[in-house]
Amino acid sequence: MLHRLRKDFRLSLILLLGVCGILGLGPFAIYRLIIGDMVMAILDGVLILGILGAMIYVWISDDTRRTGIFLALFNTSIAIIVTHLIGIFGLFWLYVVLLGNFFLVRVEIAVTMTVIALVAVVLLGTGLEGLPEQASFVITAAITSLFAYIFAHRADIQRMQLEQLATLDPLTGAGNRLALESELNIALAAHKRRGKNHGLLMLDLDHFKGVNDSHGHATGDRILKQFTELVLANTRTEDRLFRFGGEEFVLLMPGSDLQGMTRASEHLLQCLRENLQTPSGPVTTSIGAALLRPEESWESWLGRADHALYAAKEQGRNRVVLAADEAPAVNSIPA
Ligand code: GH3
Ligand code: MG
Ligand code: MG
Repeated sequence: MLHRLRKDFRLSLILLLGVCGILGLGPFAIYRLIIGDMVMAILDGVLILGILGAMIYVWISDDTRRTGIFLALFNTSIAIIVTHLIGIFGLFWLYVVLLGNFFLVRVEIAVTMTVIALVAVVLLGTGLEGLPEQASFVITAAITSLFAYIFAHRADIQRMQLEQLATLDPLTGAGNRLALESELNIALAAHKRRGKNHGLLMLDLDHFKGVNDSHGHATGDRILKQFTELVLANTRTEDRLFRFGGEEFVLLMPGSDLQGMTRASEHLLQCLRENLQTPSGPVTTSIGAALLRPEESWESWLGRADHALYAAKEQGRNRVVLAADEAPAVNSIPA
């Protein structure tokens, strides 16, 4: 449980806000019940049950996006109603709700809710009699929301940057091993659920050690970057490129069948051969290709593509080899 909370920031935020909300509201619900203020006791009770329901739902479903939107809408509506009923005391809660919204939903939605809440509170009447009081409320609530906006927005950007750092290879910008594993699992799930075809290419630059030895490491690095650019420019947008390690890459091709995968890999091979150049000549690539089979693990899928790549190297490099069990015959393009 702790592991899940540590890993999923949105989930832990929703649960933390939920627990705080319930602990904060609970005593008030009991107090209202004791003094016989049934309307407010029921409203507090509905709020507590709604928050509790959302916490259970998000824990089971992992759907933090929908739960966040529900909670933000639900809390804001009830806070507006409560403010309408009990006036200024409700406003204190409204601040908490508006602030919480920035951590539950996207900042644009939270800003919209702040505006709606401010207009609603002023129009419905809040126990704030004079213009100065109303203006004070609107301005202080707006400033509070502005601070929340700035922090939530910054946190979003930093989270995205961290996610990028954690999933991209710094030299080439291709996905790293971590991202590959996650995409392979997504591919397996899509195949299991909808029978969706997936092709996978294992690409390895030929005699790359020689490139470094002859032209230096900087040229090697430039070739690796150029390789990534060429692959991305010559594949479909849904294809995903990952650096598997060193000068070895994996191209995941969702929706590709045998024919599509073969055609794409031969096109890539030619394009790389024609464009990857060092002063002493072209740098070629060897490719092993495998289609995802039913009930197959991703380790086995990668393993078959790797075997095919090995065969491509054995047969003289600069060629595509399909995994043995895919192809009617070995398909290769000699140099
Ligand atoms: P093969 O055709 O059999 O694949 O031969 P190869 O020379 O490409 O393979 P080998 O595994 O012997 O060498 C891989 C080389 O790739 C060695 C290593 O210096 C180089 N390499 C790995 N990562 C990087 C990198 O990030 N930058 C540079 N410049 N070179 C790298
Ligand atoms: Mg190599
Ligand atoms: Mg290699």
